[in-house]
Order: sequence, then C-alpha cells, then structure tokens
Amino acid sequence: MYKSEYLNCLLEKVKKQYQNEIEFIQAVEEFFDSMDILLEKHPEIVDTQVIDRIIYPERVFEFRIPWVNDQNKIEVNTGYRVQFNSAIGPYKGGMRFDKSVNLSILKFLGFEQTFKNSLTGLPMGGGKGGADFDPIGKSDGEIMRFCQAFMSELYHFIGPDMDVPAGDLGFGAREVGYMYGMLKKLTHLHQGSFTGKGISFGGSLGRTEATGYGVCYFAEEMLKTYLNTSFKDKKVIISGCGKVARYAIKKAWSLGAKIIGVSDRYGCIIDENGLDVDYIFNISANTGCCSKEYHEKYPTAFYSTNVKDLWNTKHQVDIIMPCATQGEINLEDAKSIKENGCFMLVEGANMPVDLPAIRYFNESGIIFAPGKAANAGGVAVSGLEMSQNAMHLSWTFEEVDEKLQGIMKDIFKKCYEISKEYNQPKNLAMGANIAGFLKVFDAMKQEGVI
Ligand code: GLU
Repeated sequence: MYKSEYLNCLLEKVKKQYQNEIEFIQAVEEFFDSMDILLEKHPEIVDTQVIDRIIYPERVFEFRIPWVNDQNKIEVNTGYRVQFNSAIGPYKGGMRFDKSVNLSILKFLGFEQTFKNSLTGLPMGGGKGGADFDPIGKSDGEIMRFCQAFMSELYHFIGPDMDVPAGDLGFGAREVGYMYGMLKKLTHLHQGSFTGKGISFGGSLGRTEATGYGVCYFAEEMLKTYLNTSFKDKKVIISGCGKVARYAIKKAWSLGAKIIGVSDRYGCIIDENGLDVDYIFNISANTGCCSKEYHEKYPTAFYSTNVKDLWNTKHQVDIIMPCATQGEINLEDAKSIKENGCFMLVEGANMPVDLPAIRYFNESGIIFAPGKAANAGGVAVSGLEMSQNAMHLSWTFEEVDEKLQGIMKDIFKKCYEISKEYNQPKNLAMGANIAGFLKVFDAMKQEGVI
C-alpha cells in the first residue's frame, strides 16, 4: 500500500488490466515506490496526470515473422516493437531474441528504458523490441534469414528521428549487421537508424565495452562516495557470460578487484582466491559459456550446475554485480548475499533483482544500484553513435571512453543528489526513478495532452 491513494488506484487499474504481465507490473510497482515519496513533497504532480499517462506505451507493434529454416521448413515467430515514450527524443532501445520474449517483458524493458535514457542526459526516448526466437543452435544462414524477415516488417516503423533500435540479449553485432543491411536495401538510405553497428559501417568505437565498463564506472563512484574506497582488493561476483558481464569482469579486474565467482546459463564457478580472468574472457568470447570449460582447466574451483549457488557461496564477498538477465535474485538469495558479507549490489542487467529483494537490500543496509542507472552506459554510447552518424565523423576509443566516464559520473551524481534531498542517501533506486522521471515529466507537461 502506498501513502498516495492516487498511486494505489492506478496500480489496481494496471494490475487488473494487465494481470498476466508480471514483469511489467513489477517495473511499475518499483517505480511507484519512488513516486510515493515524490508525491508527498509535490502533490501538485497528481493533477497533471502525467503518471497516468507515462505507464502506457505510446504504441505497440506486434507482427508475424515467417522464415525458412535449413531443412526448408517454414517457421513462424512473433516480433514486437514497443514505442514507449518519445517525450524527450526518438524512441531508443534494444532488440531481444530469446524464447522467453513476450509483451510483458518488452513493456517492462521499454518502461525502464524511458527513465534510463532520460538519466543519460541525451535526447533519447524509450523503446524496446524483439522476438520469441531462440537463437541458440541456429546456423548463421538461419539467423540472417530471420533478421531479414524481421526487418521487412520493422522498417516501416523506424528511422533516425523516429525510433533507433540496437542490440540486447541474444542480439549482438552480427544481428545488427544483418538487420541494418536489410534496412538499407529496403529504404536505400544509410541513415544510422540502428546502433551497435560494425565499425566499418558507422558503428562507434567503445560501444561493445560500454555497458560493462559503465557499470564499473558507476560502481567506482559509489565506492568513492559512500565508503571512500575503490575496487582494489574487493571480492567481486559477476553473473552472466554475455557482453555486459564479460566487460564488467574485465574492467573490475583491471581496477584491482578479485573476481571470485562468475556464471553462465548452465552453471557457476567460484574460487575465493580469485579466478583466471583472462581465461574466462577468452572462452566466453568464443562460446558464450564459461563455467564448465573453466572447471575442466581448474578442477579445484567450485563448480555447480545450479546458477543460484553463486549467491550462496558461504565465502566472504564484498560486491555483487548481476549481469545476466531479469529475475536472477529473489528474497531468499538476498538473505544469503547479506550473510556472505556483501555490502554493495550493482545491477548490470535490467531488473535482475526482484522487488522484495530490492526492498530487503534497502532495509538491511546493502547499497543497491538499479540497472536503469548503473547499466545506462550502453545506451549512452549508442547516443554517442547517433551523434557521430549525424555529424558524419568518428571519435577515437579514448574520446568515447572519456565521454562514457563523464556520463556515468553524472548519472550517479543525479541519483545521489536526489536521494540526499529525500533523506535516504543510500536509496539510489529512488534517486534514479525520480531524476529519470522529472525530465520526462517536464517534457510531457510542456508538450500538452498528446
Ligand atoms: N539493450 C541495451 C539497454 O538495455 C542498449 C540499448 C541501446 O543501445 O539502444 O540499455
């Protein structure tokens, strides 16, 4: 129950209307936790009815994607693009290929993206898309044909000043390449209306590393501000084996951390003396997995096929950065994490921690950073890619990385300042929600009822 009756009614309405959309409802509830605090100080926001409007996507496209597999059989998937909010700029956000993809997941991601993009300070609205297509085990030809079939529908709805997709889970540089190639063939335009492109056709240096590095730059600010310390000698666990996790592992390690646990979708490995990061980085780059191969080379490391064992190590751990996917950590995991001595949790994935666990971290003094702030480095560098495309030039890796560091510092500062203003200096989730919201709110108010 919220203090604000307005929010209670709105939540009831959303729950009734979208009862099967569990992930989307969690994202709205998490956001309302912070709006409840904001409305106490600014009750006048209620009359603008911006919150009534902001929880609805502006537009959702759902379409059929028929394609031919290697056995010459026709398969059909469902594709989506959720154009969530364009108050501060063209829709911007990634595309996800995973068998779990449905409208609830894409709506939650689009909603979060709206505030994440606002926090970057760049003029980007929020969007998200994807398909219930499982890329695992597909041949390169199948991936290309699927991407082309997808783009033959999607191209109607995107453009550099309209909607600019990028990658996400199951959707990397290869998929961006095939999609962008098809977009160009269909439109005859080379406009950069996709980010995460290859360097040879308009991509930005530093985009591959950006999300993982950005998570560490954000975590560094937290360590400095709250504890006057750094990554040096901290024991760190990072889940996931995709691009975000790999570059977070690499950066945290280069900043002096000891990486003691990592995972992939099949299992996890833990070594309290520190894992061989170079080895993990190389195997995961080739296969997207690391735990089993690692255990074969280093049999003394603890190995389990239960990925949840990562949260229950019984070893001292300082910092946790979940970088796999949504719903990785629940209340029970949160309690084990606390018992292991962890003092800081930074979300690298989007919503890897569920709402009861977030509330528990806040109550038990673990400093929690939400993905919409900590993992914004990826989309921020996508924004820089759009700028470079518009100016027809390219910046060096060092230039992009310097800008990324500045943006992550600035996002931390915005969240921290707000959390201090509302007398909860460690509540960065509240800081992120309020800071992200206020900019979109201001734009929506000025743009009228549209
Ligand atoms: N999928 C990433 C995210 O969740 C990046 C989106 C983008 O670059 O547009 O923020």
